[in-house]
Amino acid sequence: MNMTETTRDLFDQVMVPNYAPGKIIPVKGEGSRIWDQDGREYIDFAGGIAVNVLGHAHPALVKALTEQGQKLWHLSNVMTNEPALALAKKLTELTFADKVFFCNSGAEANEAALKLARRHAFVNYGEEKHEIISTLSSFHGRTLFTVSVGGQAKYKEGFEPTPGGISHVPYNDLDALRAQISDRTAAVIVEPIQGEGGVTPATQAYLEGVRQLCDEHNALLIFDEVQTGVGRTGHLYAYQRYGVTPDILSSAKALGGGFPIGAMLCTDAVAPSLAFGTHGSTYGGNPLGCSVSLAVIEELTKPGVLAAVSAKADRYKAGLAAINEKYSIFKEVRGLGLLIGIELTEQWHGKAKDFVSAALEEGLMMLVAGPNVLRFAPSLIIPDADIDAGLAMLDAAIAKVIAQ
Ligand SMILES: *Cc1c(COP(=O)(O)O)cnc(C)c1O
Repeated sequence: MNMTETTRDLFDQVMVPNYAPGKIIPVKGEGSRIWDQDGREYIDFAGGIAVNVLGHAHPALVKALTEQGQKLWHLSNVMTNEPALALAKKLTELTFADKVFFCNSGAEANEAALKLARRHAFVNYGEEKHEIISTLSSFHGRTLFTVSVGGQAKYKEGFEPTPGGISHVPYNDLDALRAQISDRTAAVIVEPIQGEGGVTPATQAYLEGVRQLCDEHNALLIFDEVQTGVGRTGHLYAYQRYGVTPDILSSAKALGGGFPIGAMLCTDAVAPSLAFGTHGSTYGGNPLGCSVSLAVIEELTKPGVLAAVSAKADRYKAGLAAINEKYSIFKEVRGLGLLIGIELTEQWHGKAKDFVSAALEEGLMMLVAGPNVLRFAPSLIIPDADIDAGLAMLDAAIAKVIAQ
């Protein structure tokens, strides 16, 4: 098949209809710019949903991928490999974690985290202690366990029976958690910022209180940092910004900068519960993914890179405030660092997608987070000129939507 025959219509013919991709087909990216099949250029505020943390085709990542690609792609876990060991060492040096488990996605990282938490409770306290508490509106992935733990009923519908022993409490509500947690609780899982649920940051007091309640009940605290991790908030992980340390942390999305990789990070106190043979992944920790991820971490931890995130976030906020002066359609701009959520005013609730489509027409890629919130998760090194140009496109898109 010739690539020129790969049109958007073909998607509807040959792909399962679980996605509704945009009208264009991107074929090339560089930095925060993307080009489609017709050569039209776009500015990328979506970042592949918080994945392309260093933009597209970053030279250091291309180098890591091509160099490793000439050497060794895959072994499976019957052998370890140099890139996996180097990446695990780096992640343990840069975080609270003592041990790392590699997998291929965010859902798998959470699956590992939740299985570890259950198994840790089982090994140390017995099978009664198996309950998992999550938060309403949370998102933890699409496997059966992670949709069950996630706090959005629509993702479970039609897939029942789902795993049991899971409850959900309102986010940022410590009293609700206090009422639910008990000595039967194996773990509490929280996103430091609810991403898919609408870009809602946890309050400082909430995360501190969750940590304390977990300690009081010998429950493990899992932070799902699949979206907030790897520099997004201006810190390598958001927990470092809050100064509240989990027992287990899941990471994916930006971890590979576009190459699929996930990781579950944990302490020495809990790691032994995933003893030999209890869990695994054929691809997890493969040399290609780990080489690229190592390059991502090395680039992000170069002096000044993460420090520049908050200035870029301020530039976005100032630009958005100026746009809102004109149109008064933003109820709130929230988030941390370069995970930015823009809640529309009530009048525009349910219409977030209309703005995303209009922006694409103008040449800007962005995201929604639910029906009422626009979301930006751009490259952390997006040039200021691209921020300004993209916001001008958003301005034009808003003018058109309002005029309709
Ligand atoms: C995207 C996301 C996931 C799922 O990651 P996948 O790689 O799609 O499996 C889990 N948790 C959070 C917070 C996410 O944003």
